[in-house]
Amino acid sequence: MDMPIPNAAIVARKSAIVTRLRSVLPADAVISDPAETRAYECDALTAYRCAPMVAVLPRTTAEVAAILKICHEEQVPVVPRGSGTSLAGGALPTADCVILGVARMNAVLETDYDNRFIRVQSGRTNLSVTGAIESDGWFYAPDPSSQLACAIAGNIAMNSGGAHCLKYGVTTNNLLGVTLVQMDGTVIEIGGPWLDAPGIDLLGVICGAEGQLGVVTEATLRILPKPEGARPVLVGFNSNEVAGTCVSDIIKAGILPVAIEFMDRPCIRATEAFAKAGYPDCEALLIIEVEGSPPEIAEQLARIKAIALRHNPVEFREAADEDQAKRIWLGRKSAFGAMGKINDYMCLDGTIPVSSLPYVLRRIGEMSAAYGLDVGNVFHAGDGNMHPLILYDANKPGDLALCEAFGADILKLCVEVGGCLTGEHGVGIEKRDLMSVQFNPVDLEAQLRVKDVFDPAWLLNPAKVFPLDITAARRAG
Ligand SMILES: Cc1cc2nc3c(=O)[nH]c(=O)nc-3n(C[C@H](O)[C@H](O)[C@H](O)COP(=O)(O)OP(=O)(O)OC[C@H]3O[C@@H](n4cnc5c(N)ncnc54)[C@H](O)[C@@H]3O)c2cc1C
Repeated sequence: MDMPIPNAAIVARKSAIVTRLRSVLPADAVISDPAETRAYECDALTAYRCAPMVAVLPRTTAEVAAILKICHEEQVPVVPRGSGTSLAGGALPTADCVILGVARMNAVLETDYDNRFIRVQSGRTNLSVTGAIESDGWFYAPDPSSQLACAIAGNIAMNSGGAHCLKYGVTTNNLLGVTLVQMDGTVIEIGGPWLDAPGIDLLGVICGAEGQLGVVTEATLRILPKPEGARPVLVGFNSNEVAGTCVSDIIKAGILPVAIEFMDRPCIRATEAFAKAGYPDCEALLIIEVEGSPPEIAEQLARIKAIALRHNPVEFREAADEDQAKRIWLGRKSAFGAMGKINDYMCLDGTIPVSSLPYVLRRIGEMSAAYGLDVGNVFHAGDGNMHPLILYDANKPGDLALCEAFGADILKLCVEVGGCLTGEHGVGIEKRDLMSVQFNPVDLEAQLRVKDVFDPAWLLNPAKVFPLDITAARRAG
């Protein structure tokens, strides 16, 4: 994976740049000591590391605007950062950049139950948005597995989703408005506390823009009354094909579970060894969760059970109480940790048409044998979002390159079957060089022109999302 050569002229001016940043921020908000900037050298894609020149930790939109104005005048690249949990390397620094971390911007600014929204600073963690309103019976729906740590800022930049996106959608379906600071320090409001704003859907452009177009400092989010209850069931099958057909039959029947999660055998075995959730040792496992009032839950589960039993599962397990429900989810929620205990891993994130799952899993198995690297698969079966977890050994020479090549082949396969490179983790650096597999040169040029409008000097997160060769001239200024 290539990154641009750091601009030596910028690095040479580090001391002057730090002095200017200190003139607009409290002393503890500017980190320039190399021993301390190392804390920002990577995100959750830990295979790639590079300490930034400086890290800044503002507390307000005005401070963010002042930072960006200085960086714009000094022509310093800026990499926005939320909590650094990106699995695509979206928050990876360059040695000549300023990391702009919003972690200290975590206040709740306004809560309005009558109009069903909450307004927060963007550094607030996903789970603590619900934490602020749950005692009043409300919740924020998008639920990435990283929700304890990841920030709303990163969720917006990556258009993150979670297990419950089948019913509630991903971030873009729950985002009403943002305060955005442009690279020159201009503050703009996009959308607001209403379901649809007039004019071009700029909010749709910002959501998923991976820190390319501006720095989000505040967000207005749609909130929902908490459902009366929820209950999962676990269904084990001895065939991926049959599990896939069962998912299609449930959807075709018009039932809308909040989540349908799929795990394959390597993943089931790894999580069972790690979390001991009591999963059956089978080829494919589905966790299906429904919610509503007790009669609604009972009615949905009865229909799901009837469909599942037609496919001869090796096990159909209902959660009789809260404890059993937690055990059903335990293995799935531990899946990434379980794989991480075995070895280093790279977590991919391609999307495929649900019907091609058996074919894609078979091809991934063949590739796994050919590359000599193990892989386990977790899949949001409701919306076709796959998470192959490839195991490799970061200390073994050549293993990372092998893992990258295997990962690229899996993502190309996703595009080949009619899917796309990313479902929820974003492009970052991980899939940057594969963008030309998904998009032709005309499509890519159209996307570059959108960035030209928001960030004409190409200073915001400039080495991400687009293949380096096609952005070289723009980045050179
Ligand atoms: C164990 C684990 C499980 C995960 N599970 C899921 C999952 O279920 N679903 C899912 O979608 N993702 C998942 N992720 C990936 C990750 O948590 C998400 O992409 C998350 O949204 C990143 O948020 P963050 O605050 O950590 O962002 P960061 O990693 O800090 O940054 C991510 C991107 O956002 C940009 N950015 C950050 N702040 C701003 C800002 N203020 N303005 C503009 N751009 C900004 C960055 O430049 C970068 O491109 C998982 C990650 C881990 C480690």
